[in-house]
This record gives sequence, C-alpha cells and structure tokens, in this order.
Amino acid sequence: MEKTNKVKIPFIDIHTHNRENHEEVITVQSLFLQNIELQNEITTLFSAGIHPWHATKFTIVEVSSMLEKLEKDKGLIAIGETGLDRFCKVDFQQQKLIFELHLEFAEKYRKPIIIHAVKTLNDLIIYLKRAKVPFIFHGYQGSTDITKQLINFGCYFSLGKSVLSITPRFLEAIQIIPPTSLFLETDDSNTDIREIYLEVSKIRGISLEELKIQITENFTRLFELPYYTKS
Ligand SMILES: [Zn+2]
Repeated sequence: MEKTNKVKIPFIDIHTHNRENHEEVITVQSLFLQNIELQNEITTLFSAGIHPWHATKFTIVEVSSMLEKLEKDKGLIAIGETGLDRFCKVDFQQQKLIFELHLEFAEKYRKPIIIHAVKTLNDLIIYLKRAKVPFIFHGYQGSTDITKQLINFGCYFSLGKSVLSITPRFLEAIQIIPPTSLFLETDDSNTDIREIYLEVSKIRGISLEELKIQITENFTRLFELPYYTKS
C-alpha cells in the first residue's frame, strides 16, 4: 500500500453518459455504439455498445461491423452497456441476439462487459456460466440472494444514485459485496460521484479515503491500467 501515499487517489466514475469531468474524477464514458462516429474525439476512457432499448434498430450484421471497428480505439476499456431488459417493450429475442454478439466481442477483445439488467438477472446466469470475461452489473440493485449467486461467478457491482435513497433490502445486498468487486457510477444522472462515494463509505463503515483506494485498486487491476494519479 506504500505507493498510495505518494499519489493522489481519484474518484472513479465507472459508467457515465455525461461528459462533465472534474479534475478529481476519472470517468469511463458510456457511449452508444451507433453515435460513435458523431463524436469528434474520444478523449476519455470509454465503453461502447448497443443498449438493449435500441436492440431492434440494428441488424446483427450492422452491430457486428460497428463492434469490429472498435478494436483500434485505445480508450476502449470495456464493451457495453449491453444486456437484457424485461421492463422495456423491445423484442426480447432480438435483445438476446445483440447481447450475445457483444459478449462474443468482449471475449475476442478480452474486455470486461458492462451489463444493463432489468428483471433479467436470472436470464443472465446461463451466460455467466460460460463467460470468459468479467461482468460488471451497472446501476446494480439486486437482492441479497441474487447478489450471492453473482459473487460466486466473480461479477463486479457498480452502484449508482440509488444508494442515496436506500431500501433495507438493498442495504443488506450492498453489505455483502466483496470490497474487491465494487465500483460506483453516476450513469445518466446529475448526481456528483463524490456524493455517492461518501454515502457508500458510510454504508460500508469505512473512511472515504479507504473506499477511494479500494475502488482505484479494483479499477487498475480489472482494466490492467497503470496506478492512476490525476494531478
Ligand atoms: Zn447507462
């Protein structure tokens, strides 16, 4: 832990759709794959994928070709968000096909995959059984039972603004997440990531600094990045 005394530990926002970037914060921008050509320049670390809500807008061939082009992007550190959503009206079979394609590319590029799961954690277990890359469940709000199952598959959990209005059921689930499997995010909200860090440090009974160090370690380990210092 010696090196952590010499560097400034950042806040890490593992999943955001906003461009805002505070000097203390490292963000992983979540881009919709179909919009990537519209970006002038991708200057931050990012992930990219077709959101399940947009799954019927593209054919498998189109998505495959978009994913294929990503490999050259140095800032790409994860595939997604992608996943399965039973709450939206988008054809579930097509969601599955698009998700499977993303998983295939994540494995080909050896990148973690950022998962959007709404009422589909049970559907995703079958993929987890044979996945060769880590799953990061973003905006995670699962029950204690499902959390235990996902922990056994080595999954990562990214918690967002829902920690600010926590339910007893979710509180219990958060407390069993191993420190080495935890990330935090703002997603599409305007919440300050530092507020989410502060709340999670209280919930888990550790100092803000300890939480920052833990998440920075998780980040650098999972994405094979240099130990970050942002000055
Ligand atoms: Zn998102």
